[in-house]
Amino acid sequence: MNKAEFEAILEQIEGGGAKLVAVSKSVDIDALKELASFGQLDFGENRVQELERKIQGLAGISTDYSRLRWHFIGRLQSNKIKTLLALRPALWQSCESVDAALSVEKRLSYELPCLVQINSANESSKQGASLNEAVDIYHEICQRCKLLKPVGVMSIGANNSDESVIAKSFEDTYKVFESLQKHGAKICSMGMSDDWRLALKCGSNMLRLGRILW
Ligand SMILES: *Cc1c(COP(=O)(O)O)cnc(C)c1O
Repeated sequence: MNKAEFEAILEQIEGGGAKLVAVSKSVDIDALKELASFGQLDFGENRVQELERKIQGLAGISTDYSRLRWHFIGRLQSNKIKTLLALRPALWQSCESVDAALSVEKRLSYELPCLVQINSANESSKQGASLNEAVDIYHEICQRCKLLKPVGVMSIGANNSDESVIAKSFEDTYKVFESLQKHGAKICSMGMSDDWRLALKCGSNMLRLGRILW
């Protein structure tokens, strides 16, 4: 994607009141550098080792890249927590349970914001708290963690060709977000390459886009 194309998409995203996280899991450092040169600062990765490889690769090129903000959006195995935390991610978007939160909290030495991931369409292929549990999990993390700070929710839209089913999964996530706003929730992260326009309409304020950017 060239700069004009990127700026056209960004304008729609920001015009819709959302922030863009560029998901770089499927591309290499050169593609990432190009997007950074267009001014993009927020990037997302779903594997700790790949995140480490990219951060180290960029640090070897220029200290300018220390300004980038990394979002961890994947499954976090407990044997990778230490490595992830050493990389100082900006936001852990895929916290799915109190247990996972406590394992991270135990190893934290700085404040880390997180999102509670919600499996809003209740799909067995996806991680995440159920819609029913999400609010309680959010509160329990707030109460039991000092350094890990919940700041919102994240969800992947339903894997369905019927747009109304996808919309329902976004709307349900948004309702949870709304009820948590009075408790400090600020981020509702939903929408990927195939469904980001719909996610924006349903109240998303953070899009995680991969394929369409590269
Ligand atoms: C890969 C991924 C994305 C981006 O997906 P695209 O379809 O490439 O836009 C967003 N969120 C999560 C959690 C992902 O794993």
